Amino acid sequence: MPPKIVIALSGNPNSGKTTMFNAMTGAHQHVGNYPGITVEKKEGFVQKDGYSFHIVDLPGTYSLTAYSQEELVARNFLVDERPDVVVDVLNASALERNLYLAVQLMEIGIPLVLALNMMDEAKDQGLSIDSQKLSELLKIPVVETVARSGHGVEPLLLEAGRFAGERGGKWSQINISYGPDLDPVLKEMARKIEAEKFLTDRYPPRWLALKYLESDEEIRVVGRKTGPLALELEDMAESVAKHLEKTLKTYPEAVIADYRYGFISSLLKQGVLTKRSGQERLVLSDNLDKVLTHKVAGPLAMLAVLLAVYQITFTVGEIPMGWVQDFFAWLGDTATALIPDGLLQSLVVSGVIDGVGGVLSFVPLIMLIFLFIAFLEDSGYMARVAYMLDRVFRAFGLHGCSVMPFIISGGIAGGCAVPGVMAARTLRSPREKLATLLTAPFMTCGAKLPVFILLIGVFFAKYQALMLCLVTITAWAAALLTARFLRSTIIKGPSTPFVMELPPYRLPTLKGMAIHTWERTWQYIKKAGTVILAISILLWAAMTFPGPPQEVLEQFETRQEALTAQVANAAQKDQDMKRLEARRKTLAGQEAEARLRFSLAGRIGNGLEGISRLAGFDWRTNIALVGGFAAKEVIISTLGTAYSLGETDPEEAAGLGERLKRDENWSALTAVSAILFIMLYAPCFVTVVVIKQEAGSWKWAFFSMFFNTALAFALSTTVFQTGKVLGLG
Ligand code: GDP
Ligand code: MG
Repeated sequence: MPPKIVIALSGNPNSGKTTMFNAMTGAHQHVGNYPGITVEKKEGFVQKDGYSFHIVDLPGTYSLTAYSQEELVARNFLVDERPDVVVDVLNASALERNLYLAVQLMEIGIPLVLALNMMDEAKDQGLSIDSQKLSELLKIPVVETVARSGHGVEPLLLEAGRFAGERGGKWSQINISYGPDLDPVLKEMARKIEAEKFLTDRYPPRWLALKYLESDEEIRVVGRKTGPLALELEDMAESVAKHLEKTLKTYPEAVIADYRYGFISSLLKQGVLTKRSGQERLVLSDNLDKVLTHKVAGPLAMLAVLLAVYQITFTVGEIPMGWVQDFFAWLGDTATALIPDGLLQSLVVSGVIDGVGGVLSFVPLIMLIFLFIAFLEDSGYMARVAYMLDRVFRAFGLHGCSVMPFIISGGIAGGCAVPGVMAARTLRSPREKLATLLTAPFMTCGAKLPVFILLIGVFFAKYQALMLCLVTITAWAAALLTARFLRSTIIKGPSTPFVMELPPYRLPTLKGMAIHTWERTWQYIKKAGTVILAISILLWAAMTFPGPPQEVLEQFETRQEALTAQVANAAQKDQDMKRLEARRKTLAGQEAEARLRFSLAGRIGNGLEGISRLAGFDWRTNIALVGGFAAKEVIISTLGTAYSLGETDPEEAAGLGERLKRDENWSALTAVSAILFIMLYAPCFVTVVVIKQEAGSWKWAFFSMFFNTALAFALSTTVFQTGKVLGLG
């Protein structure tokens, strides 16, 4: 058996960690989540030169203090799993900042190898780095790499394997001086920790003391559960903090950061880093930014990029989506022909085939949107978008990166909330991400759009364009205001500061984008797919069972038979045949209506009429709205069925429009109320499932169903009742 070596890859965001991981593992990787949270966990396996490597990609972080979920995950992985060696990927062109994390890794003491990545860029910028010298000073291996071309990746692996063997699992910490104020306290704290063996099976004593000085939230919680020493340590930290405040008007974390940077800069000055003069630094990138983040040209360019992403996703995506839909339609027809009429046929066709088809028809959209996101992120442009929009979105408790999920979900009418919600992955801070996830489904997706167009066409024929425009604006306003509301109530908490730096522009690699896209898509198919199929069958059952009582069914059967007899007897006159055909259609429609009315969904719709009247909806509308949970497309077809039109095809919606116009339950006011309700109420169930996936718990998925529906109902009722009082109904 070759020696098994667990490598943890760490590094700042944008240092090339993912590229390095891909270069090391190729296709042999596995993506999952760390237990219980949405932070992604990637693992890969590779055999090289008699070693068998197991590589774990830690989340990208700037530090190891528990400021964010990512940092906590990275740190806990190190202390709990104790990997054989950590490979820290550094962006060599920003060595000083990138060493900040490396120093912290050396303070925790885990065997560490540095990968000086992006050496090509460092050279282009006229930096000269003596990695040999750095290695000597730190007494750890340092390997120069260019992850994008694969240069140095193999030597890095071998060096990691060798070093892990040499250290044999032993940790050894470096001790940095933190100056006359902190050093004595640190020493005393470490002594007490050591003496009581306080959490020492997990953390090195001095490191733990340092975390107390940095007021690390997690350590404090864990400490208090461990023993009384915790309070003593907190007191010591408290009193030194007070002292610093009084004497130097500063606080421990700032002092610690200063000394760490001091340590780094003294390292670099010892001949590790020299800058050749005369080289223009990042000319191209700076010039691009003069335009792309310009006050006027910047937002315009951004608008163009977002519009292009949107247009291409949905116009190009439509083509393969059509193939998938055609294929499943064909499959449905085939199954209908093969399986005799009845429950089994209905289950297979409407439950299973439609369900699987529904899941897979989103795949082209998801692939395209992630291809674009991979491009925008890897090229560095996403950071600019976030930078430009951050101020606007921050006002609503969101983040600059929220723009993508909103636009894709239908911020430009006609999107889709499924890829939209998935696009929220670009958000790294959990609170902003959650607020984005929960509000993006308010946007006008491609399935709600036809309903809006139908209602506007019927009741506001003269102002179609204006009304559609109003609908879009209302959706944005609702999303942003609701986000603001959620962020100041149940998802309260400070906004994450904009730590995203602006990396230089780079041309992304095809391989990187392909891997990224495929991972996301596969995750969707695998995880969401199974759940969605199950729910699809449940929804089918809800719209089928318990079914009409026997005598109702018999009635239809008798009428059907009578009609068939008439057809047989009719003289072969065209006119007669047409009339009979129309009657047959009407009868089929009435039967479908009866079946729906007696189903669970129908009974719910019926039962809710007492309440829904407040917002102006009769029971037929209710059934359609209940059906809309399955998919928003179902609203139109169900309205068609519920108003017993023979045809349930959305193309026949014109007929439905006429019906609504004449119906005494419908008016312009009802239409406005219905539009508002459909805009805001529970997302379709596929969206609910991806919300669960992205938010990491069913709690938020259920929340979005109930909260959105309550909000929608409250607003529709208010509008409807006000309208009635004003005499508009
Ligand atoms: P991560 O955020 O650390 O995972 O960084 P990524 O792996 O996504 O890389 C960010 C960008 O840097 C991508 O566009 C990569 O193609 C690019 N990149 C990665 N390694 C190198 C390198 O060694 N040289 C250059 N020039 N670009 C690199
Ligand atoms: Mg990455």
